[in-house]
Amino acid sequence: MPTKEEVLQQVIDSGSLPTLSTVASKLINITGKEETTIYDITKLISQDVSLSTKILKVVNSSFYNFPNEVGTIQQAVAILGTNAVRSLVLSFSFLNMERPKHGKGFDYERFWEESLAAAVSSKLIMAKVSDGDPEEVFTVSLLQNLGKLILACAFRETYDKLLQEAAGSEKKLLELEEEHLGANHAYIGCEAAKQWHFPDTLTVPIFYHHNPDNYQGTDSEMLTEVRVVHLAALLANIMYSGKPIDYHGPFRERAQKMFGLEAEGIDDILEKANTEVAQAAKYFGLKIGGTASIPELLQGANIELSLLNMSYEQMNRELVQAKMQLENLTSELEEKNSYLEEIANLDGLTEIYNHRFFQEFLDKEISRSIRRETELSLVLADIDSFKKFNDFHGHQAGDYVLKEVASLCTGLIREYDLMARYGGEEFVFVLPETTQDEAVIVAEKIRAAVEQHAFSFDEDEYRVTISFGVASFEQDGKPMMKKSELIEQADKALYSAKKKGRNRVEPFVEKTGWFSKSK
Ligand code: GH3
Ligand code: MG
Ligand code: MG
Repeated sequence: MPTKEEVLQQVIDSGSLPTLSTVASKLINITGKEETTIYDITKLISQDVSLSTKILKVVNSSFYNFPNEVGTIQQAVAILGTNAVRSLVLSFSFLNMERPKHGKGFDYERFWEESLAAAVSSKLIMAKVSDGDPEEVFTVSLLQNLGKLILACAFRETYDKLLQEAAGSEKKLLELEEEHLGANHAYIGCEAAKQWHFPDTLTVPIFYHHNPDNYQGTDSEMLTEVRVVHLAALLANIMYSGKPIDYHGPFRERAQKMFGLEAEGIDDILEKANTEVAQAAKYFGLKIGGTASIPELLQGANIELSLLNMSYEQMNRELVQAKMQLENLTSELEEKNSYLEEIANLDGLTEIYNHRFFQEFLDKEISRSIRRETELSLVLADIDSFKKFNDFHGHQAGDYVLKEVASLCTGLIREYDLMARYGGEEFVFVLPETTQDEAVIVAEKIRAAVEQHAFSFDEDEYRVTISFGVASFEQDGKPMMKKSELIEQADKALYSAKKKGRNRVEPFVEKTGWFSKSK
């Protein structure tokens, strides 16, 4: 990183320093000398006819508000004083300076508009806080940010990027300038002014315009100038940074602290600033975009801010609400879905699984059994002579028995076994990881339990028995079967149980199957 002196040299070598008009540079030169007379100044300015005309136009405008017309430059110099005339000459010189080449990001017109706003503001402020020379601060404020223009011309793209990154924050811009270029615009502007032989009263405030507290000198007039220029810069920032609120607070606070300015005085300055700027721009032949009044700018920014906050809060609240509703809905839906699924799988009368679910369950269990090479048994159960039961005791008693059988039997099987209503007075049991022999034992247990159970309904007691057919799907020895074959085998075994007298458990055996087939 180069030192700031090296950066300055680089800037000078790059030819980025604007050239002052001959009249302006000579004027600066002679106004610094004690022996200079009004006549010398008049003679110098009169050499430039166009400049003289412009000066007279401003002097006679409401910018100065003199009661009588000022007809000549000599009169103007006599009435305004040397500093004011010098200030005017410098203002014209800079404001009408040829538009320099620079990067795309740097808005030359806006730069001068903002500089003029600072210059006008510093005059307004000076009038409120001290009887110091308002012309001097006008010139300083006009030129305080000249360093920006110079850096923009010298470093173009880089400076455009810094401006973009700073996004309207002066503090950030100063940091970025130092970090990326090695020198900030206050230093460069001050040094440039020295190159043009500007007096200290101009160069010192330029240097301190961001940090008036750093000024350690004992010159109280200079201190006032430095502070006024600083406040004017803040005021211009309120108008042009796009972030009026960010600069408004500091402006009020420092105006109060530095000059004891009361709210009323501050408000007065804030209210006048934009119209004064517009007027001055007209006198100096500067076309400006202008801004709304500061109170309007602040109000707009505050409304925007509160709208932003409100809509954010509102949005947040609504989002939270919507999310909660959605969560409730989702869980309700989940509940309903699982309920629907549940009842879709259940038999309406017995409330155990229905035939459809049994088929799906058996599909899965067969796949699992093949994958894991485990046994699987299927038991078909059919209530004996149930037609007679119905005929004898009535359909309601029959329904009751079906329900009771279902609840009795589900209590007798393992958790991962399945009992389903196969249809009518038939039930089916799927017993994973169960061999045929084991399944026969399970069926036998169920058979015995039903046989012993007294079905009490309407103060009557009923007895029923069930016949069972057992078929198994075993890995070793037996060939793989399809589901339909397994069911068929269980059915045949059941048939066999009925044949053999009912209320009994029959395992499927080939002979049985063959027998039943042949029948
Ligand atoms: P088997 O011992 O040979 O099985 O004789 P069964 O009478 O039980 O056999 P069948 O198939 O001839 O008759 C079945 C009877 O089951 C007919 C019907 O009255 C009865 N049944 C079927 N579903 C229901 C039901 O939901 N409620 C009632 N109460 N009875 C049913
Ligand atoms: Mg039947
Ligand atoms: Mg039956």
